[in-house]
Amino acid sequence: MIDFTGDFTMTIDGRAAMTTATLAIVNPATAEPFAEAPDAGQADLDHAVAAARAAFPGWAAKALAERSALLGRIAAVLTENLDSLARLLVREQGKPLADARAEIGGTAYWASATAGLDLPVDHADGPMGHSETHHLPLGVVGAIVPWNFPLILAMFKIAPALLAGNTLVVKPSPFTPLTTLKFGELLRDVLPAGVLNVISGGDALGPMMTAHGDIDKISFTGSTATGKRVMQGAAATMKRLTLELGGNDAAIVLPDIDVAAITERLFWAAFKNSGQLCIATKRVYIHDDVYDALSASLAAYARTVVVGDGFDQGVRMGPIQNRVQFDRVQALIANARETGLTFLAGDTAATGPGYFVPVTLIDNPPDDARVVSEEAFGPVLPLMRYRDIDEAVARANATRMGLGGTVWGTDVAQAASVAARLEAGTVTINGPTSPSPLAPFAGHKESGLGAEGGRAGLLSYTNPRTIFFPRETA
Ligand code: NAD
Repeated sequence: MIDFTGDFTMTIDGRAAMTTATLAIVNPATAEPFAEAPDAGQADLDHAVAAARAAFPGWAAKALAERSALLGRIAAVLTENLDSLARLLVREQGKPLADARAEIGGTAYWASATAGLDLPVDHADGPMGHSETHHLPLGVVGAIVPWNFPLILAMFKIAPALLAGNTLVVKPSPFTPLTTLKFGELLRDVLPAGVLNVISGGDALGPMMTAHGDIDKISFTGSTATGKRVMQGAAATMKRLTLELGGNDAAIVLPDIDVAAITERLFWAAFKNSGQLCIATKRVYIHDDVYDALSASLAAYARTVVVGDGFDQGVRMGPIQNRVQFDRVQALIANARETGLTFLAGDTAATGPGYFVPVTLIDNPPDDARVVSEEAFGPVLPLMRYRDIDEAVARANATRMGLGGTVWGTDVAQAASVAARLEAGTVTINGPTSPSPLAPFAGHKESGLGAEGGRAGLLSYTNPRTIFFPRETA
């Protein structure tokens, strides 16, 4: 029987592994430490990489159908343990219990849907003759994950990497390692030893992975600044890279929308997970004709949303996950106040001891205000007026970020034509953006490199090998 409240160990070579040093894990709703996690160093990483390397040939040699069936088994294990994992996720991450359950359920779905992807041999005929292209696994994949959606973002990497025949070393964020450590423990008897290793550690562990000579690919999700460091670290060994980085997604609201119909959906597109979501709406451009009505409606809805401990009844928004991010969000709000911006909601001090920030809506700030140009990664949303759609598109695209975006309009064809003009990897019409295991999710510009999801995501865990059969020349 697994204890989901304590005894957090790493999984290396199918067995529990502990370290003498530990990390204190803080519950963001209380700001108090409640658990200890292993703090791995170079020797632990070397051990995990060696286990993954040793397991690689056997795993790669299995038929795709066998690996797919084991992914299905992983999904079943997640579903069987959904409630215990969700409760642990609330304690370490802070999100409301319903959202934590949705994350674990989504993680199971990601595993089972990825299991249905195929990796066929591609054929082509041309002047060079006939060719067939096989997609071979890379070897050992290092997965580095942030603290906002610890388990599902790990699964974005684990599922395609395993299906393609790779083995892994997974490193959750030092702020939220616990759910992923228990996930590793649950799989010790499910997967062959060494196929999936889970290690936890502090700030030094990520760079050790990017520099490691026996890791073939790093799949990283996190901030753009760290992503650039990962890219530098990976250069020396020419590691393959997938980078899913920050965003500053714009929503464009067209003049024909029904204010009452979209208020709640638009609100949650921005404030899900307290705004700590890479593809959250982080700037809203609202047509002048509907600006007053929609901003008032969003502000009224904001007043109904209860912020608090994720275990409390009725709470829809939890705390900011950690102190560093809390201070960053508070600084952004203080800057908005100091520069004289108008608050439509949230002009109240956050109340502790947890890292709580009220829902904050800013009324028509200039485009160069920090709340507009910086990714808040917290419950702070600027609403801006526009008159002309070309102007709105230009302002939405005036950023080095290009992760996602949304367009809101009653005439869906018109909304889709605006969506096609946004410089971003994923755009949603009339709803929040949510990645799918069946379609590529990719950041444009400085929001990332490569894609996760769909065939493009699966192929990113492979090297192609093309075999030619030259034409008869006689
Ligand atoms: P972060 O970049 O600080 O950390 C992410 C991970 O990288 C953690 O596991 C951390 O320990 C590790 N790390 C830190 N320094 C490292 C280094 N030098 N080399 C290698 N690894 C290192 O990000 P965060 O604060 O945990 O997450 C928030 C950011 O993540 C936001 O910018 C958000 O937009 C982004 N994000 C992007 C996506 C996406 O899919 N595009 C999804 C979620 C979050």
